[in-house]
Amino acid sequence: MVKNLLNLFFPEVCLTCDCQLEANEFYVCTICRHELPLASFEDTTNNELTKMLYGRVLLRNASALLRFSKKGLVQRLLHNLKYKGHEEVGEFLGKWLGAELIKHEGFRTVDVVVPVPLHSRRLRQRGYNQVHKFGKQLAYALECDFNTEVLQKTKATTTQVFKDRIMRWVNDDGLFMVTEFETLKGKHILLVDDIITTGATIETCANALLKIEGVTISVATMAIAE
Ligand SMILES: [Zn+2]
Repeated sequence: MVKNLLNLFFPEVCLTCDCQLEANEFYVCTICRHELPLASFEDTTNNELTKMLYGRVLLRNASALLRFSKKGLVQRLLHNLKYKGHEEVGEFLGKWLGAELIKHEGFRTVDVVVPVPLHSRRLRQRGYNQVHKFGKQLAYALECDFNTEVLQKTKATTTQVFKDRIMRWVNDDGLFMVTEFETLKGKHILLVDDIITTGATIETCANALLKIEGVTISVATMAIAE
């Protein structure tokens, strides 16, 4: 009732296709919800994501919710998240993936969720880190901590710079930095990001976190690129 009334004045739109939502629809319309391509990783220790990162970083478990393809629905959804101010996309995807992860033994032992950080300049431009709400929902589902402080980004990079200097970027230890080594000692960390393409960001962040004594790492992303 309240939602109906509010909709009259502030119509809520689907975060994927921009159509007006019905009173019983939240975040995404029913059609998009059924058409969003799921990654459907049944095995959290042996899937496309663990294979992508195999030999690059030592992982316990990895999962992704959706499959990203150029010009597809997931691209539109993530575009709304990153460039249109729709921070609630992260909340929507976090609730969805959180309900999946809790079913897996390997994720129930997670102690703390750590999002891939943004550089402070980018954070000021966007106003939010697009992975925070997603990570918070995962922490809520897994009943564990959420830590945005321990991992920091030390200098801004643009996508273009990233493409041009990919090898240098991967090898640049200074880019992601662990700020203190006590809080997460011995913890099972769930590192989270929006989309995984080459795995370079996750690899660099995970290897930075692995400098903390006794930690183990799992990974969860909103989407995996085709
Ligand atoms: Zn829709």
